[in-house]
Amino acid sequence: MTVPVFRFAPSPNGSLHLGHAYSALLNQKIAHNLHGRLLLRLEDIDRERCTPELEYFMLDELEWIGFSWEQPVRRQSEHFPVYQAALDRLIQMDLVYPAFLSRSGIRDEIERSNIDDWPRDPDGAPLYPHTERELSNRERQARISAGKPFAWRLNMDRAIETTGKPLVWHEFISHENIYARPQDWGDVIIARRDMPTSYHLSVVIDDSLQGITHVVRGKDLYHATSVHRLLQHLFGIEPPLYHHHRLILDESGNKLSKSRKDTSLRSLRQKGMTRQEICDLIGL
Ligand code: GLU
Repeated sequence: MTVPVFRFAPSPNGSLHLGHAYSALLNQKIAHNLHGRLLLRLEDIDRERCTPELEYFMLDELEWIGFSWEQPVRRQSEHFPVYQAALDRLIQMDLVYPAFLSRSGIRDEIERSNIDDWPRDPDGAPLYPHTERELSNRERQARISAGKPFAWRLNMDRAIETTGKPLVWHEFISHENIYARPQDWGDVIIARRDMPTSYHLSVVIDDSLQGITHVVRGKDLYHATSVHRLLQHLFGIEPPLYHHHRLILDESGNKLSKSRKDTSLRSLRQKGMTRQEICDLIGL
């Protein structure tokens, strides 16, 4: 029998809060129950927001709450060539295109379309207009050479056409099969000009390269799984099993945020809270 492999994959771009503690310790608990391995991956592709100092505190706090992981830690920032190769495959497959519209450019296009109820993605952002899907290679090259900023976006319709059948993922705690709806995201960003990847691309590549069999993460990433399922299909990757767990909410019912100091593990620790009190607070 193969050994289950779990991972906790935080981004060191702020302080860990109670929600992270819940996610990390839930991974640990399920991994333990299933006699699995537990890895730590630092999703630090954003070189401006992720700093060595934040990483240092993150590891220290994870240790403090009793999370223990296998060495080595995988840092995504050390693997850009791997993501570049994956992006190159999508470019060769003609499934991504350089997209030049700025945020205000997107707004102008939407206004020009005269469509009142322009569709929005599950995060609430307007879907990217399709106007640049069929630009000629010449025009694309001219804009790139002129130094126009761009991002690589997936041609969602073309990518979905390659699937042939609906894509499904399995929630292994609730035992549900979920139909992926990548179309809800429109032409998502796969990579940026100055960064050959995005969260979606690197998470899919890394979960596969690290042999992750069980992805346990918050419900806030439930809809993103549709995009991941599609990318797995495009790269011929077998999907892991998923569990999207409940979120720890603040007193007004909102998701905790990394910028809120009072629920950060660091401030709770400084106030003298013990590890056991943290576990009680999050119900683990
Ligand atoms: N790095 C992501 C975050 O901190 C989580 C990625 C994942 O678990 O798939 O929100």
